[in-house]
Amino acid sequence: MSTRVRLGSAVPVDRVHVSVYTVPTDGPEADGTIAWDRTTMVLVEVEGGGERGLGWSYAGPGAAEVCDDLLRGVVAGRDVMDVPGTWEAMRHAVRNRGRPGVVSMAMSAVDVALWDLKAKVLDLPLASLLGRVRDAIPAYGSGGFTSYSADRLWAQLGGWADAGLRMVKMKVGAHPEQDVERVHIARQAIGSAELFVDANGAYERKEALRFAERFRELGVAWFEEPVSSDDLEGLRMMRDRAPAGMQIAAGEYGYDLVYFHRMLEAGAVDCLQADGTRCGGITEFLRVAALCAARSLPLSAHTAPSLHVHPCCAVAPACHVEYFHDHARIEQHFFDGAPEPLDGVLRPDLSRAGLGLELKRADAERYRVR
Ligand SMILES: [Mg+2]
Repeated sequence: MSTRVRLGSAVPVDRVHVSVYTVPTDGPEADGTIAWDRTTMVLVEVEGGGERGLGWSYAGPGAAEVCDDLLRGVVAGRDVMDVPGTWEAMRHAVRNRGRPGVVSMAMSAVDVALWDLKAKVLDLPLASLLGRVRDAIPAYGSGGFTSYSADRLWAQLGGWADAGLRMVKMKVGAHPEQDVERVHIARQAIGSAELFVDANGAYERKEALRFAERFRELGVAWFEEPVSSDDLEGLRMMRDRAPAGMQIAAGEYGYDLVYFHRMLEAGAVDCLQADGTRCGGITEFLRVAALCAARSLPLSAHTAPSLHVHPCCAVAPACHVEYFHDHARIEQHFFDGAPEPLDGVLRPDLSRAGLGLELKRADAERYRVR
C-alpha cells in the first residue's frame, strides 16, 4: 500500500540509482544506414515516499554518467509531486553540457522514473494520473531489418499480422537494388495489414521519390525518414509529392521541443514521431503532443512500447506505438508487467500503479555492465 500524501507536506526524492545493461540482439540487425548486434539500456530508479519509480533510455553508458554526475544532485530532495519543476531544474543544470543527445536521454530516463514514482506514491496507473483520452493504443510491429533473410522477414512480419497487429514496419535503404523485392515479400507475408517502411535517411531526394511511387504500388502506407531528418526541405518535398495514401514520418531524433517545432514549421511530416526515452521524458512528450494538437497532426511513439503505452492513452494526437522488436524483447525479459499487443492494441494495466512494471532483477543482472 502506498504512503498517503498529506496535504501541505512534500514527498522528497530520497535516492537515485543508475544501472546499465547491454543485451545482445537475437541476430545481426541493420537498417538503411547502420548495423548493430546489441542494445544498451540505461535504467534509473528513484526512491521516495516508500516507493521506487523506474525509467530508462536506450542510450549509451555516457547517459548513466550524466545521471550520476549531474542529475542525481539536482533531483535528490525535490518533491516527488512536482515533476515539471524537477524537469526545469534538470534543464537548467545541463545547460553547459549541451541538451541534445546523451544529456537529453539521461534527462528522459530520470523524468520517466519520476513520473512512475509519483503515480506509485499516489497509487494510480500513470495513464490515470495523466488522465486518459482512450483505453488502449494501436501498436505496430517493427523490425524487418535489412540484415534479415527473405525467410526471416516473412516469418517476423507475417507472424505479427497473424497475431493481430494491423500494421507492421520494415527497414529499407541498405541495398536499394533489393528494396522493391523485399517490400513485395513483406506485402505477401502480411495479407491485408498495413505496411510501413523506414529508410532511416538512406535515400537521396529523387531516389526517395522514385521509391515512394514503387512502394505505393505495393500498398505501403507510411514512408519514414525517406531522406535524412536533417533535410527538412527534402522531407517537405516528399510530403507534397509522395502518392496519396502514403504518410511521410520523422522525428525520432528530436531531443528537445524546439526540434519538433522546427520540423512542424517546415511542414516536413504528415505524422510526427517522438521518443520519450530521448526527447526529455514524459514531460516533454506531453508538450510535443500539444504541438501536434495545434496543427491537427497525429503523433506516433517511437520504440520503448512499455513506456509509451501510458502517455499515448493520455494525449489525443497519439495514433500508434512502435512495438520495436529489440525493445519489446528486452522489456518482456526485464519487466514483469510489460504489455503485449492483444487484438492489435497495447493497453495499460489499470490494476497496477505507475507504469505497471517491476524490474526482474535476477533476469536483468546477467546483462548488467555497470
Ligand atoms: Mg525510424
